[in-house]
Amino acid sequence: MSSHPCLILVLNSGSSSLKFAVHETGRRTPLLSGLAERLGDDNATITFRDTDGKRVQPLDRSTSVSGHAPGHPTALAAVLAELSRRGWVDVLAAVGHRVAHGGERFSASVLITPSVVDAIEACIPLAPLHNPAALLGIRAALTRLPDIPHAAVFDTAFHQTMRPEAYHYALPMDLYRDYGVRRYGFHGTSHRFVAREAVSLLGLHPSDHGLVIAHLGNGASATAVQDGCSVDTTMGMTPLEGLVMGTRSGDVDVGGVLHVMREAGLDPDEMGALLNARSGLLGISELSNDCRELEAAAEYGHAGARLALDVFVHRLARHIGGLTTALRRLDAVVFTGGIGENSVRVRAMTMARLRSLGLQLDPAANACMTGGACGVISAPDATPCAAVVATNEEWMIACDTAELARQAADAMTAEA
Ligand code: ADP
Repeated sequence: MSSHPCLILVLNSGSSSLKFAVHETGRRTPLLSGLAERLGDDNATITFRDTDGKRVQPLDRSTSVSGHAPGHPTALAAVLAELSRRGWVDVLAAVGHRVAHGGERFSASVLITPSVVDAIEACIPLAPLHNPAALLGIRAALTRLPDIPHAAVFDTAFHQTMRPEAYHYALPMDLYRDYGVRRYGFHGTSHRFVAREAVSLLGLHPSDHGLVIAHLGNGASATAVQDGCSVDTTMGMTPLEGLVMGTRSGDVDVGGVLHVMREAGLDPDEMGALLNARSGLLGISELSNDCRELEAAAEYGHAGARLALDVFVHRLARHIGGLTTALRRLDAVVFTGGIGENSVRVRAMTMARLRSLGLQLDPAANACMTGGACGVISAPDATPCAAVVATNEEWMIACDTAELARQAADAMTAEA
């Protein structure tokens, strides 16, 4: 196993899923990755992906560690069995966990201790679906791998540098004090990674730059990054605010929401489901939440698909423009996420809306940036410039985890 001196397991737990990746320190591409799906259901499966391809296997009751329908512990047991088969368990150095919400407590990744678990639990009211899921993964992993360090990497942490004027809503302050109602922002790990990559790609000064990063996937958010720090972002107290997303509405007049609740007799959970799961690209197009499908349908003249893409781009361009006001200077707009990395059309439509900021598209360069290619898509010498950078959240989580594990080991050596 000398060829894998230090492996990091990255876990991203959803309520019924567990995504995982095994990274060797220093290598951006995972050695192994995969996804356990439909956890809590008898049809649960786990998929393993490596350079040889992919393999799907059922996670049935007979493999369940509890005898019930397979859950997170069973999925993790299957991951560890695969690692053991490859002889990797003994060289597993640490586990990195993606955690959605760290509230105001966490402005950076941390090693997991009992008090960190308590703090993640205390943030459940802010992320009632996501933090309990993260805790399922953390608890399963702490039980199975008690002797190696575990780190928590928060989606919100990068945005803790926002100033009060950027994170406060104009609501009575007791809502902030009593319920933590403020803007936190999400996708922080992706924005942090992409900002770092963009600075290096574009040859910008690490402590003197201004970027707007548009992370456009099923969830979508844009962030203004000044000198490596988030100064404003489009998602808010929850991931519902801001840009149009696959099935989430993004910004909407709360007055309209109250009106619908009264008129249609919807309770908060029903209204929440409507805004989170039936809105966005899907809600407008009445066809799909998937940008690729909408682009194909728009080509054939589907009016709903065209409108959905137009609204998506309109809102995105408006937010990019707004975010620049948080910067000292705009050096670049950077596109990332499944849509940002692949949709030549969405990037071209957005850039056309940003001419007033001085952005000019190079259509040939734009057409080349798909499938993980990174590079500049603006006209030569145009300032500000625009670029595409492929995000790699798992790798960022692995890097943070490896660094925290190294610091802990150094501290123990110094004590000894
Ligand atoms: P998630 O937020 O779930 O991680 P992704 O970052 O994978 O999502 O982004 C998924 C989105 O990217 C989907 O809307 C998908 O249609 C879009 N996408 C992927 N490839 C392309 C493409 N070639 N052209 C347009 N959109 C694409």
